[in-house]
Amino acid sequence: MRNINLKNTYIQLPDKFFTRQIPETVPRPELVILNENLADFLGMEPEFLKSTEGVEILAGNQVPEGSYPISQAYAGHQFGHFTMLGDGRAVLLGEARGRDGQFYDIQLKGSGKTPFSRGGDGKAALGPMLREYIISEGMYGLKIPTTRSLSVCRTGESIIREEVLPGAVLVRAARSHIRVGTFEYAAAFLGESDVKKLADYTIKRHYPEVIESGHPYLEFLKAVVRNQAETVAKWLLVGFIHGVMNTDNMSVSGETIDYGPCAFMDVYDPETVFSSIDREGRYSYRKQPEIALWNLNRLAETLLPLLAEKERASLNLAQETVSEFWKDFQEVWMQGMRGKLGLFQPKEGDRGLIEQLLFLMKVYHADYTNTFLELTLEKEESSFFQNREVKAWKGLWEERVKQQNHSKEEIRKRMQENNPVIIPRNYLVEDALERAWRNGEIEHLKELVKALQNPFDYANISSKYTKTPENNKCYKTFCGT
Ligand code: AMP
Ligand code: MG
Repeated sequence: MRNINLKNTYIQLPDKFFTRQIPETVPRPELVILNENLADFLGMEPEFLKSTEGVEILAGNQVPEGSYPISQAYAGHQFGHFTMLGDGRAVLLGEARGRDGQFYDIQLKGSGKTPFSRGGDGKAALGPMLREYIISEGMYGLKIPTTRSLSVCRTGESIIREEVLPGAVLVRAARSHIRVGTFEYAAAFLGESDVKKLADYTIKRHYPEVIESGHPYLEFLKAVVRNQAETVAKWLLVGFIHGVMNTDNMSVSGETIDYGPCAFMDVYDPETVFSSIDREGRYSYRKQPEIALWNLNRLAETLLPLLAEKERASLNLAQETVSEFWKDFQEVWMQGMRGKLGLFQPKEGDRGLIEQLLFLMKVYHADYTNTFLELTLEKEESSFFQNREVKAWKGLWEERVKQQNHSKEEIRKRMQENNPVIIPRNYLVEDALERAWRNGEIEHLKELVKALQNPFDYANISSKYTKTPENNKCYKTFCGT
């Protein structure tokens, strides 16, 4: 078939890692939204994807030539408990080459039952798939490693959840869909030699630079730790809460994956949880780094037989490597925070200055994004900045900023590059979704996505996107199932 050129390297792995899986056909596929820039980046012609033939592919009714469609096997720790999982509603069509020379998985989500469906219907509803589209593109705009969304199609089916909902298929692009849970699956259900095959495949695909290092598996673990620390630090810097950091939802490439109950925090409170099922706050905003570390320990356990001959030595190496997480995390977080405050070089006292601001934001219920935005715009109009302690903090910060050998312009530019004017706030996302899937008005959603793709555009700040909502605390999100 024209214009989609896929190969599938994952099938080089032993066949216990996947099953061949043709997507279920759907009655009336209809394109709702297409990411034309991404299509172009992936070497696919947008005009073709919009054609009847293209939409048939995006909705799963036809499989493009060269594709060997599969569902991937994986396991995972969900809220701390180990379970066999796998693609219960996803089909990997294959890999497309991006303009950067890298290969990207092209995966259908919501494409019907597979052997891993465990009683689920294998389907997805339009609202949650559009939600993944909006937020993943928002994350991409914020320069955070993430899977991306190529398209959402209606299927013409109704699916049954708490209410009857329109069915949909999302097509997403990812550096790969290899998860910590994929390694856990290999270690628990296959064997050492299969873990090694998976590790070799993953290294070749994501971390080829470690092959010649002399200790490829250890260096691989180190690289995953570093990437994960960086991604989670970047989440914290923009107020993102993933919501369901199970090991099956953690990609070894370091990309943010699986946009289920995720949401952005408005008012700064480190204990924030939005997910309706996270009753204990396991995946709260504040806990995300330690949970990432917990997940990385699960990955390290699967690699133990590959790290050294003796068990004790393997264990020591693994522990040493995984504990690098905090250093990596702190480095990215501090660097990001300095950027947000217009600081260039590290200086003693910076941490205190940053922590004091966060403390005051928590005490006075300040809006996280807008506090930094106001500082950047030098327009401290919100009530937060009227507090005596906040004024005192601002004095200290201004002192620190002035001591630098940089012009006002340079400092402003640095702050603008680090403080978004728009994030996918819950009320914006909900409003766009309601209009799109209930009323069939997609234009509003497209406009929001466009704004989210340029979150550092200080020349076009629209007040309709920057309001702090009331009642943020009551917002609840649900898993996409
Ligand atoms: P998630 O919470 O989206 O990460 O999904 C956890 C597991 O449930 C994965 O194995 C999914 O493939 C599976 N799953 C989620 N929704 C469905 C569904 N509607 N039908 C079948 N399996 C599903
Ligand atoms: Mg998942």
